[in-house]
This record gives sequence, structure tokens and C-alpha cells, in this order.
Amino acid sequence: MFNFAFSEKRKLLQEMAAKFAQKEILPVRDQFEADYAKGKLVDRILLEAARIGLLGFPIEEKYGGSNGNNIDTMVVLEELAAVDGGMATVIGDTWFAMTPIIIGANAEQRERFLRPLASREEANVGGICMTEPPSGADIEDPRMELRTCHTMVTEAGDDLIINGTKIWPSNAGIAYLYVVVGTIDPGLGEDGSCLVVVEKDREGLSFGKPEPKMGMHADRNSEVIFDNVRVPRENLLGKIGDGAKILHRTLTYNRLGGGMISVGIARGAFEYALGYCKKRVVGGKPLIEHSLISAMFADMATSIDAARLLVYRSAWSNTQHHPHRERFSNMAKVFATNTAMEVTTQCVQVMGSYGYSKEYPVEKYMRDAKIVQIFLGPNELLSQLIGASL
Ligand SMILES: Cc1cc2nc3c(=O)[nH]c(=O)nc-3n(C[C@H](O)[C@H](O)[C@H](O)COP(=O)(O)OP(=O)(O)OC[C@H]3O[C@@H](n4cnc5c(N)ncnc54)[C@H](O)[C@@H]3O)c2cc1C
Repeated sequence: MFNFAFSEKRKLLQEMAAKFAQKEILPVRDQFEADYAKGKLVDRILLEAARIGLLGFPIEEKYGGSNGNNIDTMVVLEELAAVDGGMATVIGDTWFAMTPIIIGANAEQRERFLRPLASREEANVGGICMTEPPSGADIEDPRMELRTCHTMVTEAGDDLIINGTKIWPSNAGIAYLYVVVGTIDPGLGEDGSCLVVVEKDREGLSFGKPEPKMGMHADRNSEVIFDNVRVPRENLLGKIGDGAKILHRTLTYNRLGGGMISVGIARGAFEYALGYCKKRVVGGKPLIEHSLISAMFADMATSIDAARLLVYRSAWSNTQHHPHRERFSNMAKVFATNTAMEVTTQCVQVMGSYGYSKEYPVEKYMRDAKIVQIFLGPNELLSQLIGASL
């Protein structure tokens, strides 16, 4: 039988995440844009997130983590994103960077890479480096078999040498480690593909200027440049030729996270606009009592719930190794991100010029919503993959 109720444990987790977001993130949320290049406010929040075990949440207890399962991580992500999509992306991306390690690493690598990410003393965030200046969506397209990836990995005895430039990774310049998508020869397609972990202090690793952008200012993005970066072969996840497979399994897990970040963004905007429309009097009565406005909220509430259910189905299907889990993940991502864009746009609309004003939060939710339709696989690509899978 289906059971839509949360266990007591899960309710407590949700409460804890909501309290963290209200206490640590909300008071400084409006300052993230001005603080984007430095990220001082975000760094302080990350330290607190590490202290309470949020950064290492999905990591197994034996490596110092909190053992959060696939569904629990979604519960936490929604609460974070309901307050700030950027902070949810920073923490979510750290979890996303753990996924290929959890999937592809051996026991020695898990100990070496996961334990620091679970630290409660330091805020060690992670990053995934996929996108390159000439190739974004194609690197995430399984049909392209990483043939458009030009980050070169050269085998040199016991070492690997990495050369190339990635663009836009979340947590660029601040991460403790980066999972880098590369190839020994793009012409080999999947057979040449590989994922290599690069720690922050490796010689030859450098970063570009923070990318100016529209929203999600808690999340720092810049070029990540690999200039003859030498790492031991023990930093390779799986073997040469496994990169594309591990990456695509990783994306199946991570895309629903993009879906849940969108559910949170949509809910945050919705709750604010609803409160506003209950108070704002237009035409002699509160806005919410106008049937057109009420119907808009009814549709928004329904879409947000539907998006959340798709995300939970996707999370559940991953725990079951369901044969359609990839499709379910893509569906959740496409539907939830489109919902967030529609809902946040409507929230600006129903609040009139106040919705458009930076003095109110809904315009920020709208700006944050936009990128989730693009990152973790643009929706046009994912719709094609859903169609092809039917
Ligand atoms: C805030 C932020 C965070 C990010 N975080 C990360 C990160 O952590 N790691 C990382 O590697 N990258 C990250 N990115 C980059 C992001 O994943 C890429 O920008 C994205 O994959 C799209 O790549 P692109 O910009 O090169 O667009 P392109 O690949 O040039 O695509 C442009 C557009 O073409 C359309 N399109 C693409 N493919 C198809 C197709 N097959 N069929 C039809 N239409 C298609 C879509 O509309 C797409 O938006 C981030 C970007 C931002 C802005």
C-alpha cells in the first residue's frame, strides 16, 4: 500500500532543516548578491551546516556521515530551497559530487574522499566539473558518449595528468575536491571516458573570475582550469572507460535533486505571495477573494504538489533500482523546474509592481528558478530522453 505520511524521524529531520534555513539563511539571504564574489556569508552558513552534519548528510556513518537516504536528502533540499535556492544548490552540489564517489569508488577511495566531506569541524564542500566552454548539454547527453569532452587525461606511469578548462561548476574555487569528467581520447567515446577526483591543493589547478549571473548568488561559479594537474592513479573512479557510465548513473540520482530544489523555490514564492494576497485589498476585497486570483493559487498549489510527488517517486525508484528510474528522474526534473518557473512568474504577477521590486523576495525566486531548467541537463535534452525511453 502507498503511505504518503512521513515517519516521526523524517518529520524531525524536516523540522531541523526548516529551522536551520530560517535561522541561518533567511536573515542574510538578501545580501548574497552583494557578497557573491567573496562569499563570506555563505562560508559562515556552511560551517554551521557542517557542524550539524548537513554537509555530510548522505555519507554512510562509517565514514563520519549521517546516513541520509535518497528520500531524506530530498526532504532537506526542499526546506533549504524554500528559503534560498542558491544555498540549496551549494549544499546539494556537495551531495551531487559525492554521488559518483559513492557509485564508483573503492573502499580506500571512499575513506579518503568521503570522510573529509563529512567533517563537522570544517566546511568541506564538493564540486562536479562537467561543462566545458564549447560543450555543455552534450556532455550530459548519454547518446554523445562524451565525444565532445575535451578535458584530456593522460596516463603517466602511476599518475594521471589533466589538462583542460571547465566552466560554471558550482562551488568553484571553494570546494575541497572536484570530480572531473575527462577522456583519454574523445574519439574513443565511452571507452576513453573517465572520472578523476582532484583535491583543491593540486598544483596546476586554478580558477577564473566569478561568472556574473542572474540569480543563485549563494553559489559561486567560475572557470576551473587544469594545467598539467598531476594526481595519483588512485584518484581515478573505476577504470578508464567507466567515466560515462558512472556520470550517467550519477545524473539519474542528481537530477531529482534539481527537481526538489525547484519544488522548494516554487513553494517559497507561493507562500510569500499567498500571504501577500490575503492582505492586499484591490477592488474592495483582498486579492485572494477574486476568483481569478484564487484559481491561479489553486493551480499553483496543485502543480507544486504534483512536482513534489514526481520527485519522491523518482527517489523511491532509485532505492528500488526500478527499470524506469532514469525516465522518472528526467520527468521529475523537467516537470518540477517548469513548475517553479511558472509559479514564480505568477507570484510576481499577482503581487503587481511589488512582485517586481527587489524589496520583496519573489523576483529573486523567479531569477533563481530559471537556471534549474538549464543545469543538470537542459529540459529540451531531457524531454528527448524521456521520449526516446517510451
Ligand atoms: C548557477 C549554475 C550552476 C551550474 N553548476 C554546474 C556544475 O556544478 N557543474 C557543471 O559541470 N556545470 C554546471 N553548470 C553549467 C550547466 O550545467 C550548463 O550550462 C548546462 O549543462 C548547459 O550547457 P551550455 O550552457 O553549454 O548550453 P548548450 O549545451 O549550448 O545548450 C544551450 C541550449 O540548447 C538547448 N539544447 C541543448 N541540448 C539540446 C538537445 N539535445 N536538443 C534540443 N535542444 C537542446 C537547450 O535549450 C539548452 O539550454 C552550472 C550553470 C549555472 C548557471
